[in-house]
Amino acid sequence: MRILVNRMRRAPAKGFTLIELLVVIAIIALLAGLILPVLAESRRRARITQCQSQLSQFHKGIVIWNDTHDRFSERYPDRLGTMYFEKIIPDARAFLCPLDPSLGHEGGKPPIAASQYPESDEGPGVNSLPTDHPYSSYLYEFNGAKCSWWSGGTSVSGVNVDTNGDGSVSWQEAKFYQQKYGDSFLYGSGYDGEYPRTWFPVVRCFWHAKLPDSNAEQEIMNVAMDGNFFPSGPKWELEAIKYVPK
Ligand SMILES: [Zn+2]
Repeated sequence: MRILVNRMRRAPAKGFTLIELLVVIAIIALLAGLILPVLAESRRRARITQCQSQLSQFHKGIVIWNDTHDRFSERYPDRLGTMYFEKIIPDARAFLCPLDPSLGHEGGKPPIAASQYPESDEGPGVNSLPTDHPYSSYLYEFNGAKCSWWSGGTSVSGVNVDTNGDGSVSWQEAKFYQQKYGDSFLYGSGYDGEYPRTWFPVVRCFWHAKLPDSNAEQEIMNVAMDGNFFPSGPKWELEAIKYVPK
C-alpha cells in the first residue's frame, strides 16, 4: 500500500505523454467543432433581429413622414434616405443590415444572382439615395426613381398610373398600382385584385440568403405597408397569393 501511494505521488512529475496530449487536443477540437456552428447561428439570429428592428424603424419613420407632410393620402417619401435628412432616423448606421458584408456598397441588390432582379438596380444605395448618403443595404419599394421593369405604360385599363404626370412611371407609382390592382398584367396568371397591406412590402432586405445556389431557398426580410414583418423569397407576390383569401 505504501509503495502504491509513493508511485501515485511520483507519477505527475513525468508530465503528459505525447499520446495524452494528442487525446486532449482531439477532444478540444471536437468540442470546438460542436460549439462554433452553434455560436455562428446564434450570431446570425441576433443580426436578423437587429435588421428587423431597423426595418421597423423605417416603417415607423414612413408613418411619421406621412403625418408631417400634409399631402394626399398614401404618400411615401421618394427616398429612404429622406428620413435621415429630415432627422426622423438620425443615425446613418440604421441603413446598414448587419448581415450585409458590403456595408451598403452594393445597395439593395441581392447578394447573389443580381441580374435576375433588375428591379433592385434602382434600390437605395444604387441611385435612390443622395450621393452624400449613398450607403444602404435596403431595397425601398416606394422610391421615386423611374421604374425600369414597368411594362404597362402610363395608363393601364383606363387607370392613370403616372399620378404626378411627369410622363413616366416611378417605383412608387407602380407599387401603388400593383397593390391596388394586382399583378395579372405582369404575370399573366398572377393575382388579380388588391394585395393585403400585411403582405405588401415597403422595405426589403436581401442579405439573408441561406443557400447561395437556390433562389427558392432565399430568405428575404420584408416590412409590409401595415408594419408587419414577413420573410419571403425574391418573388414575394407568389407567397402573398397563397395567403390572399379568394
Ligand atoms: Zn437584413
